[in-house]
Amino acid sequence: MKAWLLDGPEALRLEEFAPTTLSNGMVKVKVEKVLLSTSDYEIYNGTNRRKYPFVFGRNAMGVVSEVFNKEKSKLRKMDRVVIEPYLPCESCAECLAGDYTNCSEMAELGHNCNGLLQNFVDLPYSALHVLPDNLSDEKALFVSYLAFCLNIADSLNLEKGRHIAVFATSKAGLLLAQLVAFYQAVPVLVSNNEELLASAQELGIYYSFNSDQVDVEKEIRTITGGRMCKELVFFANSDYNFKDVFKAASFNANICVAGYSAKESKLSVAQICQKHLKIFGVYNGVGKFSSAINLLVTNTINIDKLVGKTIKFSKLDQELAKSTPEEFAISSKIVVVE
Ligand SMILES: [Zn+2]
Repeated sequence: MKAWLLDGPEALRLEEFAPTTLSNGMVKVKVEKVLLSTSDYEIYNGTNRRKYPFVFGRNAMGVVSEVFNKEKSKLRKMDRVVIEPYLPCESCAECLAGDYTNCSEMAELGHNCNGLLQNFVDLPYSALHVLPDNLSDEKALFVSYLAFCLNIADSLNLEKGRHIAVFATSKAGLLLAQLVAFYQAVPVLVSNNEELLASAQELGIYYSFNSDQVDVEKEIRTITGGRMCKELVFFANSDYNFKDVFKAASFNANICVAGYSAKESKLSVAQICQKHLKIFGVYNGVGKFSSAINLLVTNTINIDKLVGKTIKFSKLDQELAKSTPEEFAISSKIVVVE
């Protein structure tokens, strides 16, 4: 088997390993395609550092190549699967109570443990979801993203007709805005990324505006008829001043800080108290993979804009060396594993 090891910022090395022997409860997957987006690129270029050597890559799909117990297994050789990168620890208080979704020591492949830029990987059954035949490989790569957005949507009150402000500079904002509209609430996309805003317009996200060009508070006031937003989502990796989020919020608003980020934001305690705000985090798509597959196979959510260039696995080091961070903000690159 082969894996790309990151030895430090922008230092990639392809290494061959002896094949592993499958252990009880595990499935060997031949990785076919890996999605690379901003978070992966930031691990590659050292914006987010890891303990090296590190294998990155969080989102991938593949085919089952071997199962441990053929008679009892729900999966068969050649099944197409999407890999759920979250592995509950099974030993924290939450896991012992059966609440795996809220595991406090959750491992995430390619984030806090080795990831998927390798041609074969052994995984527990629970990390694999069989794909319907009519769901393309490319769409399957976005299941994890959409599952994350479903958990964000679950954390909000998406009452019909309610304005939901989404502050985003990258593609997760486009998925969430579509999801909000699907639930019949009204997405208001705030971004400083022109390309993202243009894509939003094409996808029918009517209220979307550039925070560098207009006064956010004034714009939200006009759109909501003075009520401001009661539900707001701030993507943690976006380059915003949190002040704008506070200004767009109504009294008693809920603010979801989505994803994870190494960036520090200053939060105004005075604003939180005076507006009686509730702020909470949602950072993964655990538990929502099946729903996400369904939304993609029924074309409820459109990901066409988000699919970028393909890269050959064997050429990964050369291709990433000439990439820029901006290239990953809207469309993800797809690594095809030979
Ligand atoms: Zn746990």
